[in-house]
Amino acid sequence: MDLSVIIPIYNEEANIPTLYQRLRGVIDPMQLQCEYIFINDGSRDRSLALIHELAAQHADVRYINFSRNFGHQIAVTAGLDLSQGEAVVIIDADLQDPPELIPELYQRMREGYEVVYAKRRRRQGESAMKLFTAKMFYRILANITNVSIPVDTGDFRIISRKVVEALKLMPEQNKFLRGQISWIGYRQTYIEYDRAQRAGGETGYTYRKMFRLALDGITAFSDVPLKAATIMGFTVSGVAFLVLLYTLYARFIAQEYEPGWPSLMVSILFLGGVQLIAVGVIGEYLARLNNNVRRRPLYIISDTNIPVELNPQALS
Ligand code: UDP
Ligand code: MG
Repeated sequence: MDLSVIIPIYNEEANIPTLYQRLRGVIDPMQLQCEYIFINDGSRDRSLALIHELAAQHADVRYINFSRNFGHQIAVTAGLDLSQGEAVVIIDADLQDPPELIPELYQRMREGYEVVYAKRRRRQGESAMKLFTAKMFYRILANITNVSIPVDTGDFRIISRKVVEALKLMPEQNKFLRGQISWIGYRQTYIEYDRAQRAGGETGYTYRKMFRLALDGITAFSDVPLKAATIMGFTVSGVAFLVLLYTLYARFIAQEYEPGWPSLMVSILFLGGVQLIAVGVIGEYLARLNNNVRRRPLYIISDTNIPVELNPQALS
């Protein structure tokens, strides 16, 4: 198998037929042995029926049907787990990632790279809020981590078998694949493209899911927030100590002081806030730690047409 194309699907009935056509349109001329892996991540529309239909008609279509919605990163992980290709492309189903880029990605890989990712030069048809939050997120993450995670890059990329096998060795439950792939290393490069707008349907990434992904990325690749809690704690305690000295001075030496209701309230509220933030930050890490200690399977497959011997879930 030369190439696996991994396509996570959540309510994409409007896009699946066109997507498959366009993929075949660019990949067929490349004369490779290719498989298309559709992962149905608990869609509530006709996506699954469409995938079953494709699989019945085309031998190169594989599907993995999850028992419920596990999220985009997990869907891609399942695809990686069950893929066989020497090269693997990860692509969104909504045609925001143009399939026409695949030959170029593949070409660059053949030049000796293990990872070629597609970097968004421009993003069309996305809300100002989404663009702003995404931009902020990538900048903040870049500033607080030692792993150089490329900015403005989604999961659209081609990776080699070596990288897939390395990813399989990373047991974390809260996946942030683009970060993990950077962490793995090897020779990586990118090509740039203009991101189109969604072809049909609507985004499956609510702000809630985006926020969770952002926190997964940050907690997996940086300890700065944990340390920030400590630094903040020290700073506030330092200020509080100075205020304490001043209060003692005012009370016993200068002998002039007001009954300090406002300052008392302000400092209590401020300290309370800082403490809650710090506890919250610890909680975020602790929750992920707890998640990993549980060692639950990452996903549950309801049915698939991928042979059992390739299916780690079926084996266990
Ligand atoms: N997706 C998924 N599970 C989810 C949400 C999204 O598998 O819970 C898939 C979706 O079908 C698409 C890809 O992940 O193929 C990217 O999602 P989307 O286009 O909704 O995100 P956006 O481009 O708006 O960030
Ligand atoms: Mg999209």
